[in-house]
Amino acid sequence: MASLSQAEELHRGTHHETRLVTGGRDPFAHFGFVNTPVYHGSTVLFRSAAEFLAHRGRYQYARRGNPNSEALEGALQGLEGPNCAGVSLLPSGLAAISFALLSAVKSGDHVLVSDSAYGPTRNFCDKVLSRYGVETSYFDPLAGAAIADVMHDNTRAVFVEAPGSLSFEMQDVPAIAKVAHARGAVVLMDNTWATPLNFRPLDHGADLAIQAGTKYIAGHSDVMLGVVAANAATWNDLHHVVGESGVCVGPDDMYLALRGLRTLAVRLERHYRSGLTVARWLQQRPEVARVLHPALEGDPGNAIFRRDFTGGCGLFSVVFEPMPVTAAHAFIDALTLFGIGASWGGFESLAIPFDCAPARTATTWNPGGPTVRLHIGLENVDDLIADLERGFAAMKACT
Ligand SMILES: *Cc1c(COP(=O)(O)O)cnc(C)c1O
Repeated sequence: MASLSQAEELHRGTHHETRLVTGGRDPFAHFGFVNTPVYHGSTVLFRSAAEFLAHRGRYQYARRGNPNSEALEGALQGLEGPNCAGVSLLPSGLAAISFALLSAVKSGDHVLVSDSAYGPTRNFCDKVLSRYGVETSYFDPLAGAAIADVMHDNTRAVFVEAPGSLSFEMQDVPAIAKVAHARGAVVLMDNTWATPLNFRPLDHGADLAIQAGTKYIAGHSDVMLGVVAANAATWNDLHHVVGESGVCVGPDDMYLALRGLRTLAVRLERHYRSGLTVARWLQQRPEVARVLHPALEGDPGNAIFRRDFTGGCGLFSVVFEPMPVTAAHAFIDALTLFGIGASWGGFESLAIPFDCAPARTATTWNPGGPTVRLHIGLENVDDLIADLERGFAAMKACT
């Protein structure tokens, strides 16, 4: 196989399935072994004092990069499209969000964040950025170009996430980006749900594209990882802030993430397909008032979804008919194939209860009944449906 840079050149113009297989590897730099080995190391040695002082050599110190980070960053950059100038790896998805924000603002700036953003994103803005003179306010995820009405003179960053965490509203990213750029703000997008396989934020006006690599990239519930991809306008600041802060990822986790990438396309396709099968089945159930999934015909976000996204994943939410919340809990507790736990994107199915209402400040959340988020894993979809039937039986016994 060609060297890494030649390989990058070769896979330009290919499809993402091919890039997932060819990106970020250089077997003949490793005696022909297919995968980049795990480089455990901190110190990197130089041959002379002069070479050390000149920072000569491919690597200088492991915090600043090693063959594993180079391989993973290269593979990820290949997925984000021609506008991607560079990728930074962070030790969690939340760290990717916080460092992307830190790279985009300074004291005295204002940040606009979608009211449907991932909860810990709000906490970082409200409880940490606020200590450094950066003020945050929230906007209706459905605002689109109307964010113009809530931008301040000092708004320097607009943070979007589509579909929204837990509540699954779609956002008009190109319309938001147009307004933000006209007013001198950069656009950050949490793209964990779609991944760059189904939506490339940098092609649609975003300046920084964030993923919790913990989810589908790693794919096996065994790694914490964050990814930020930057365009030419934001890359220098991102690279500087991450580099000078000293955050880095361990080589074993980078190895596992790169291994996860190899199968991302096939896993994601199955998660998405099984998820839609379950979502449509749930829509027919009398206990279900609404399924929140932008790929469903009739979902309020479906037009934007069809315009901008090429697919999705296995994560969506269900709104039950009005009933005691204990009945929804009985539904979850009766499931045997769905684990109850945070995070998602692994091979296993998950179910959690949630309530968006307490966090909202720009919009109100009142779905009318208890809500549950489901992650559809790689189990047989008929087995999952049979399990959900058990849940409904337990719910019935409770109402
Ligand atoms: C899980 C998640 C994150 C955070 O990722 P961690 O690796 O758990 O820190 C960020 N954004 C979204 C949308 C998530 O679902």
